[in-house]
Amino acid sequence: MPNLLQIIMYLIEKIKWQAQLINKLSDYINWLEDDTGRPSKGTDITKLDYKKMTLDDPPNVVEIERLNYKDLLKEAEDVSKPIKKVRRHNSSTAVPESVRCPKCGAPHDYLYKNNGNKGQYLCKVCDARFHEKNRFSKDIQLFCPHCEKHLDKIKERTEFDIYKCRNNLCPYYQQERTNLTDKQKELFETSPYYFKLRYIYRSFHLNLEDIKSYGLIKAPVDLAKIHASPRLLREILTLHVNYGLPAPKVAALLYDLHGVKISRQTVLNYASAAGAQLLPLTQDYPYELSNEICGDETYIRVKGKWNYICYFFDAKKKIILSQRLSAKRNTELAIRAVHDVLSHYALEGVPEDLNLVVDGNPIYKLAQHYLSQHGFQFDVTQVIGLTNEDDVSKEYRPLKQIIERLNRTYKGNYRGTHGFKSQNGARAHIACFTACFNFLRPHQALDNKVPVRIPYVHDGVENMPDKWIRLLNLGNGLLKSTSAE
Ligand SMILES: [Zn+2]
Ligand SMILES: [Zn+2]
Repeated sequence: MPNLLQIIMYLIEKIKWQAQLINKLSDYINWLEDDTGRPSKGTDITKLDYKKMTLDDPPNVVEIERLNYKDLLKEAEDVSKPIKKVRRHNSSTAVPESVRCPKCGAPHDYLYKNNGNKGQYLCKVCDARFHEKNRFSKDIQLFCPHCEKHLDKIKERTEFDIYKCRNNLCPYYQQERTNLTDKQKELFETSPYYFKLRYIYRSFHLNLEDIKSYGLIKAPVDLAKIHASPRLLREILTLHVNYGLPAPKVAALLYDLHGVKISRQTVLNYASAAGAQLLPLTQDYPYELSNEICGDETYIRVKGKWNYICYFFDAKKKIILSQRLSAKRNTELAIRAVHDVLSHYALEGVPEDLNLVVDGNPIYKLAQHYLSQHGFQFDVTQVIGLTNEDDVSKEYRPLKQIIERLNRTYKGNYRGTHGFKSQNGARAHIACFTACFNFLRPHQALDNKVPVRIPYVHDGVENMPDKWIRLLNLGNGLLKSTSAE
C-alpha cells in the first residue's frame, strides 16, 4: 500500500524535528502586546539606516581568565613574598567595602585607588586595573578581528547590543576611509553619521534554541469526534478556505444546499482544528525548492490589535515556506521566519547561493547577522521603495510583486474573518490557508497545477472536499507521531 508507505516516510524523516518540538512546546513565544491599536512601527531598530548594515566578520572572543585571590595569596606566601593588605594613611584613599577585584575577587583591603578619585583601581594581588563603573565580572571580552583592540559597547537595544572598534589606526577603518570617493570624503567631513567606516558587531540577546521552537496550534475541537458528517467537514473547508467565504456565509450556504443547520462558530472551530492538524505538514513537507525565495510582511487584527505575519515564499514553485505571526514587527520575527526557510533545507543543506529577496526593512539584515553568527550563510537582497530607482530593485521587483500578490490573496481570505480572538485562532487560519495554497489550490502560473502534488491526496481523488480529507489524514498522521514522542 503506497499511501501508508508515504506516511511512514514522513514520520522517519521528521524524528529529529519531533524531539525538538516536544522540548519546546512549553516555552513557545510569549507574545508581546502592543496596545497602540494600530500597526506598530516595530522597535526603533527600523529607524536604522539599512545601507549601513554591511555584515562584518565576527569579533575575536576572549574568555576572561579567572583567578582566586586566596590561591594567589598562598602562592605568594609559599615563595616568601607575602602580599599584605593595603595600609592607608588617610580616609581619602579608602576603597569602599562593596568593591572587589573583578579578576581575582580580592576584597577592598587589597585594592588601591590608582588615579586619585577618578575611579580607577589597582589590585595588589593580581595587578588587574579596573574602573569602578566596570567592576562587575564578565565572562568574555570582545576584540576587533582587524586590529585586535578592545571593542566598545556603543548601544544597548532590546534585541541586541552594538559594539564598535574605535581605534583610528584599525586597518578596517583606514581601508574604508581610503575607499571613499572625493565627494564622499567631503560629505564625511560634515556628516560622518552617513557612513559606516568602523568595524561593528551586534551581540544578540536571542537564544537560537528559543528561535527554533515551533509550538503547535491548539485545536478547539477534536475532528475525530465531531457531530457533523465527514462530508460536511470537507465542504466547510472547501468553501471557507479555498473560496475564502466568511463563516456566516458558509453556514447559510450549507443550510440552503443541504438543509443542515450549523452555527458560524462551528464553521470556525472546524477550520481551526483543521489548521492545527495541518501545521506540521506545511512546515515539514520535504519541498523541492527553487532559488527564488522572497519574503514580505502583512498585518492582521488579533484581539483588536495589529499583529504581523512574516511570509517567506518560493516565488517560482509557489510554495509558502514560513507563516510566522507576531505582535511585533521586530528582528525576532524576521529571524524566526528566515529560520523556517533554512529549516526546509535541513535534509540537503542550505544551498551556497541562497538569496532572500525582501523589502527595505532592516529586520532582515539583522536576521542575517544573527543567523550568520550561528553558522547559517545566505544573501539578502532588499528591494526598496515603490519605483525602480536602482538596478537591484529593477532586477528583483518581479519577485517582490509575486509575493505581494500572495499577500493580497491571503488578505482576501482574511477579510471575511473580521480579525481573530486569539493568536492561536489566527495561526490556525494561516495554517489552513498555507496548506490549501501549497497542496490543494491550482495555480495559473503552474499550468493550473497545484504547487506540491502529493499522490495520496490527488491520485484518483476527483473533488476538492475529498482532497481535503486526504490532506487532513496525512496531517493527522504527522501530528500524532509528533505528540507521541
Ligand atoms: Zn585582583
Ligand atoms: Zn579595529
